Amino acid sequence: MADDCIFCKIIRREIPSKIIAENDDILVIQDIAPKAPTHYLIIPKKHIADVRSLSEADAHLFGNVMLMAKELSSKMNNAPFRLIINNGPEVGQSVFHSHVHYIAGKKMTDF
Ligand code: AMP
Repeated sequence: MADDCIFCKIIRREIPSKIIAENDDILVIQDIAPKAPTHYLIIPKKHIADVRSLSEADAHLFGNVMLMAKELSSKMNNAPFRLIINNGPEVGQSVFHSHVHYIAGKKMTDF
């Protein structure tokens, strides 16, 4: 956990959020500025800045992140969805605690 990290504060319930799902390793919240009808953030509770900071020890955790995406999809009748992970401010990362955007509910053609 990092003291000044907004997602760590959300995980510690110091900042409110709309919680969609949770288990021992992961919190899923509604994005505060949704870019689609469904826009969730799948957040590992462990503070890892981005994918470049992952280690072998995080392989199971990130496998569970993918399984959480599957679980969210199955709750929405397996509707199509997009997963996005931004790594670095140059490509749009604004919160430096790794997370996966789960986006659904609109047609997406552009990459
Ligand atoms: P990224 O730009 O990939 O780092 O994604 C960070 C995301 O966190 C953005 O889509 C923001 O809208 C979202 N966000 C920032 N603060 C909050 C918050 N307090 N609650 C929910 N989502 C947030």
